[in-house]
Amino acid sequence: MPGQMQLMREVIADRRMARRHQMDDPGEGNRHRVVVVGGGFGGLPASRFFGGMPVEVTLIDRRNHHLFQPLLYQVSTGILSQGQVAMPLRHVLRKHKNIKIELAEVTGFDLDRKVVLAHRGPAESETIEFPFDSLIVAAGAGQSYFGHDEFALYAPGMKTLDDAMEIRRRVLGAFEMAEGVASEAERATWLTIVVVGAGPTGVELAGQIRELATISLAGEFRNFEPESVRVVLIDAGKEPLATFGDNLSGHAQHALEQMGVELMMNARVTNIDADGVDLQCGDTTERVRAHTVVWAAGVEASPLAAELAKATGCEVDRAGRIAVQPDLTLPGHPDVFAVGDMTTLNNLPGVAEVAMQGSLHAAATIARRLQGDDSSHDFRYRDLGSVATIGRWRAVCSVADLRLTGLPAWTVWIFVHLTFLNGYSNRLATLGRWLRWMLAKGRPERVFSVRHTGGDLSVPIVVLNEIEPNPFPVVNAEQAAPKPS
Ligand SMILES: Cc1cc2nc3c(=O)[nH]c(=O)nc-3n(C[C@H](O)[C@H](O)[C@H](O)COP(=O)(O)OP(=O)(O)OC[C@H]3O[C@@H](n4cnc5c(N)ncnc54)[C@H](O)[C@@H]3O)c2cc1C
Repeated sequence: MPGQMQLMREVIADRRMARRHQMDDPGEGNRHRVVVVGGGFGGLPASRFFGGMPVEVTLIDRRNHHLFQPLLYQVSTGILSQGQVAMPLRHVLRKHKNIKIELAEVTGFDLDRKVVLAHRGPAESETIEFPFDSLIVAAGAGQSYFGHDEFALYAPGMKTLDDAMEIRRRVLGAFEMAEGVASEAERATWLTIVVVGAGPTGVELAGQIRELATISLAGEFRNFEPESVRVVLIDAGKEPLATFGDNLSGHAQHALEQMGVELMMNARVTNIDADGVDLQCGDTTERVRAHTVVWAAGVEASPLAAELAKATGCEVDRAGRIAVQPDLTLPGHPDVFAVGDMTTLNNLPGVAEVAMQGSLHAAATIARRLQGDDSSHDFRYRDLGSVATIGRWRAVCSVADLRLTGLPAWTVWIFVHLTFLNGYSNRLATLGRWLRWMLAKGRPERVFSVRHTGGDLSVPIVVLNEIEPNPFPVVNAEQAAPKPS
């Protein structure tokens, strides 16, 4: 634990370093241009780092907000609102006049000419170019269906705000449908909710759906008891939260079972349709009948990783992540950095802290160079530990050699998440919601629409074209018509 405190101090010291950089201002028009692609955990810290420095920063994102993905499951299950887990990038960076925000979709890079290529609106619209002197790409990762994109029609993933709202719609909608049907078999199918993938997202979501049903919805329906809902958590591995190690995994399994989540481990999904999920469990096959399935299983790097690989001759791995150099630059392009979930280096995990530390490493390297120090430093990740919640007062936490469960782990979870949320008033409001959830058992965010929620679902493009409305902004009606898949 003392070692961990030391690591924490180092990380905080790094984050304060920005204020110590003193640079001469070469004057408007001559300032170094830094383009940052992505305003997530990998892009935002670097942008903030340069705030107030004599550097021109352009932060490009296809969304207007920074999203706190770790709490998306709380939006889906009615605890938090969208605004509590997402904050407009303009608002977050409003005090830094040297940072411009651009709402645009980056499509590629011309590294010889040192420009980022992007467009606003549909893919056919005019290409915009953003020239740079230094570039940081942090475009993250999307959902992977392991070659079965067709599953996405029935099983949305959990990556974006619209995903979270879509899952809220489907989960709460399932209870409404169960109330209205006459057949008991059909009611049972509506009252079965399947979550595929027993990593932190799947575990947190499955636990919260059970608590939603057993605690928050109790007594609200007339034709069934909400606590009769079956929540089935499926994974091809042998235990939930496998990355936490056997001890904590076993604890998580026990806690989930106590909450009434059914675990189906060592089970591979072979098909998903409107009425259920087919599984291969060793030599046997099984079918779980359910109208509501959530996919929390695989990740696939942003296609921009492949674009960068093409431009630099780098490798991408099976998840499409680009292999960066030890200092997070790309071979032959010392001024181009890639960080976060779209990259691979030394088997580092795809978690927020890796993206944030990588982001600051890239920004600090650029700042050092601007002060005339061209030395290259390898990126050194300081692992601050992992924590996941299972339900109210139930969590697991792994920090160095320390393993915590129950209330102590839960307390660490609250502290960590409040620290990393954006904005003091937002932290306070979120704490209020958590107290309401923990003590009064209330979930105020239960509204949903009966139609698909929006166009920012993290489903594969062929599925998105089938279900999404036109992208924003619509440039001209003909261009914006959905493309045939
Ligand atoms: C549901 C869920 C729960 C998680 N829980 C945890 C947790 O508990 N703890 C933890 O440490 N980590 C957790 N993670 C992982 C963590 O969120 C990621 O590791 C982190 O977000 C990675 O940061 P990033 O900047 O690489 O990507 P992101 O944060 O995803 O940011 C990528 C940004 O790039 C933008 N972008 C993408 N493509 C383009 C484009 N072509 N043009 C313009 N902009 C683009 C996106 O809009 C986005 O804003 C979780 C992830 C998910 C999905």
